[in-house]
Amino acid sequence: MTTMLGLTLEGRDVVFIGGGDVAARRMWRMLQDGARVSVVAPEVSDDVRELIDAHDLPWTARRVRASDLDEAWLVHTATGDRATDARIAAWCEARRVFCVNASDGAHGSARLTAEARAGDVVVGVVSDAGVDPRRTARLRDAIGALLRDGTLPVRRRRRTSLGRVDLVGGGPGPLDLMTVRGRRLLAEADVIVTDRLGPGGALEGVDPDVEIIDVGKRPGHHPVPQEQINELIVAHARRGKRVVRLKGGDPFVFGRGGEELAACIAAGIPAEVVPGVSSAIAVPQAAGIPVTHRGVSAGVHIVNGQGELSVATLAALADPALTTVVLMGVAALPRLAAAALAAGVSADRPAAIVESGHTAQQRTTRTTVGTMARDAAAADVRNPAVIVIGDVTRAELLLPQREGVEGATR
Ligand code: SAH
Repeated sequence: MTTMLGLTLEGRDVVFIGGGDVAARRMWRMLQDGARVSVVAPEVSDDVRELIDAHDLPWTARRVRASDLDEAWLVHTATGDRATDARIAAWCEARRVFCVNASDGAHGSARLTAEARAGDVVVGVVSDAGVDPRRTARLRDAIGALLRDGTLPVRRRRRTSLGRVDLVGGGPGPLDLMTVRGRRLLAEADVIVTDRLGPGGALEGVDPDVEIIDVGKRPGHHPVPQEQINELIVAHARRGKRVVRLKGGDPFVFGRGGEELAACIAAGIPAEVVPGVSSAIAVPQAAGIPVTHRGVSAGVHIVNGQGELSVATLAALADPALTTVVLMGVAALPRLAAAALAAGVSADRPAAIVESGHTAQQRTTRTTVGTMARDAAAADVRNPAVIVIGDVTRAELLLPQREGVEGATR
């Protein structure tokens, strides 16, 4: 029978007998945990040699003697010779030192687990019966995947006094376009502050006692002012809660993530940002529009359509080598088009409007600067939508060019 213990190896002597590849892998792992590793082996593999050099490990370059084990808390034997490994295991037994025996089919008084880590959670897999490393590794991988995608209840039950805030980018909509780190933090959260653009389904399956606060903004309505959102996340973190501020896309792309992070910094609250897939790039992409394309567009100008059109935006719109991506621009389309035309942007500059990218309702309207206001109204274009202006929006951009046809028509 095996009893699994969580050992703290930090600062403790672990003696490796034998310096082959198995030893190298495990040595690396124990060094990560802060163990004081030493090696006894007449010769060592290149990998072990590297670890010895990198960490300045004591290496006794000869065959093992019983006295080599005197200072050890734990011994790892992988000499490549079963009889030797068995003898070392017996020496350990006599000294009451735990021993990992890496000989095929054997295991000593201690066994290494196949280990999965996510955040501060460590899960070890070990079999009570025979050794089957492939099986334990597969199980470890499966558990690791669940841990990381937030399927398992990793939320802390015991409060520490230290709260924190994570600003998590949820991506453009589908849950599987959210980062693994974001999913994990969501599963660990005590409080989730969310709005309309967060990914669908992200909040299904969170514990019923997790507090979910919707501060959703609809265009023209601001149910919870930004100031209050900042105060809210800080206040919950001050009470020792783990707060996730979940946002659509990326927190730092028109997501007010900067303001929220600044509020946390000012309040002395530990805070981090988890990037998300931004609609500025991923929504055009969903419609088959690369925001840059060799020979067509050498740069992207991303702009908030609600503001006044700056000189730089007008220049980008007029520059045939640039793509302009407008977020929050549906209501401003007529004004945008008029300003662009007045500034001399060619009326037949191609454009596309992509609504609800990466969802089942996704729709693309191909148009031009000259006709986009009219086309959008005729098609009843709605939020959320991304407006893309530039040659990359030509419908035939990625299609094979027919020979003899110059600049295929749309
Ligand atoms: N932080 C977000 C952007 C927030 S501003 C990001 O990085 O994606 C909100 C704007 O994003 C919307 O007005 C719209 O222009 C765009 N948007 C977000 N999700 C979208 C989607 N699925 N389809 C189309 N546009 C989207």
